[in-house]
Amino acid sequence: MTTAFYSHAECRLHDMGPGHPECPQRLDAISDHLLAQGLDIALDFKDAPTASLEQIERAHSANYVMQLKDVLEQVQAEGQPRALDPDTVACAGTWRAALRAAGAAVAATDDVIAGRAVNAFCAVRPPGHHATRDETMGFCFFNNVAIAARHALDVHGLQRVAIIDFDVHHGNGTEDIIAGDERVLMCSFFQHPLYPYSGAVPKGTNMVNVPIAPYTRGPEIRETLAAMWLPRLEEFRPQMIFVSAGFDAHREDDLGQLGLVEADYEWMTRQLMDLADRHAGGRLVSCLEGGYNLSALARSVAAHVRVLAGV
Ligand SMILES: [Zn+2]
Repeated sequence: MTTAFYSHAECRLHDMGPGHPECPQRLDAISDHLLAQGLDIALDFKDAPTASLEQIERAHSANYVMQLKDVLEQVQAEGQPRALDPDTVACAGTWRAALRAAGAAVAATDDVIAGRAVNAFCAVRPPGHHATRDETMGFCFFNNVAIAARHALDVHGLQRVAIIDFDVHHGNGTEDIIAGDERVLMCSFFQHPLYPYSGAVPKGTNMVNVPIAPYTRGPEIRETLAAMWLPRLEEFRPQMIFVSAGFDAHREDDLGQLGLVEADYEWMTRQLMDLADRHAGGRLVSCLEGGYNLSALARSVAAHVRVLAGV
């Protein structure tokens, strides 16, 4: 069994305009570097299917899904970009890309639960963790990880899953959807203060939110996570682990001011794999969130995927 690597060419068709950091080239940088590192032979490359509306509605209100579908299909037909929030622009390719991104997370979940893959990474965009139950926000349309977690619970009948979010920004959308759902333990850290300026006060007892001061570096963050995340995860005994894998806490990424390097992403991945091996039969699905310095993003994803694939 190998690590599944989900992506789709349509994820590149979502383009928020010149100079926008959440750009199609992010996926090129990742795939180029994986090839250059020879990691492709360790991965099972798969094309993401589109998610169904029923799957998406496990994390979003039917009303939101219907309204967003209307807007994005209209933009698709007209070809004129439209800003949905100050940072988030819909273009002609957005609807298809968003369906592929959520579909990758769901298909990866099916593969891992069925034993077709030991674990999976979804190199997809748009990202998802700022999308709330009812709102588009911060480059995000559908909350891919929340959709996949609910798929594991509601369709496959798992009883406890963990969501880990190591993006530099607080995953406010995932918290909005998941807070109070005691079948899920969400552990995150994020730079604070920083966009979206939430998270310091958790919205539910199933949230382990760890705000981190700007300019904190890897060793200190590892120590904090070992103390704050790992005992709660161990106690929770998740049957599957989902990762909101943002790489913008890297010290070369200008969207945040934290100091992680590739070795820190390796360390975090190793901790999560060990946890998955102890409690979840190794089941883990990781989905790309942020990461905007193309070189640092590509190197960090390679470090993450190398540990997932065990090479
Ligand atoms: Zn981010």
